[in-house]
Amino acid sequence: MSRSEADVQDLRMIERCLELARQGVKQGELPFGAVIAYRGQVIAEATNHVSSECDVTRHAELVALSEAQKTLRQKRLPDCTLYSIVEPCPMCSFPAREARIGRVVFAISSPIMGGFSRWDVLSDNSLSSKLPEVFGPAPEIVSGLLSQRAEQVWRDWNPLAWRFMRRRGCFGRAAEQTSCHAGAPRPTFSWNALADILAAPALSVSNVFLRRRADSNTISDLEKPGV
Ligand SMILES: [Zn+2]
Repeated sequence: MSRSEADVQDLRMIERCLELARQGVKQGELPFGAVIAYRGQVIAEATNHVSSECDVTRHAELVALSEAQKTLRQKRLPDCTLYSIVEPCPMCSFPAREARIGRVVFAISSPIMGGFSRWDVLSDNSLSSKLPEVFGPAPEIVSGLLSQRAEQVWRDWNPLAWRFMRRRGCFGRAAEQTSCHAGAPRPTFSWNALADILAAPALSVSNVFLRRRADSNTISDLEKPGV
């Protein structure tokens, strides 16, 4: 897929997030909407379910992540992009890293509550460098896409509340430029590590894990200049 085709696809997916956010408002939710695309195809989409289920953990991004994992019947989503009208919060960003999501694209940044702008969960490389068995590399992040149209969705929901939130700096500027933060390189798969784990008795899996970590630390030391 060319860069321009990918850009058009990103715009289409964010537009769908805006539609979902408007639908959510009609259902008594705040204007949030999220989509997960797998190689360009939508495999999950969601509004917030916080009010309808009386559950503060039912953010649109989390609902969509769960649906995507069930659709693909796999925990890991490296070839997927998470789209959202607003920058995902830390609660949604952490499982996105654990699911190894490949890209995250959003319209409105969230300097007070965001899992990228405020608490750097999405691009924190130490998660994947210290625990690559659990967390994927930092995803590519594209922010500010259709941000002015996204802000209009929120303004239409409640102009007064929107004005207060903007005044408090909860959301990014309307004039914000679209920006892209490159993701971390994808690691090459370690067949030896997998073979060790599969061959190990269940009770000693943790020992294999610890030994592998020790080995990787040793290799890192050997690769240091001057060692
Ligand atoms: Zn969230």
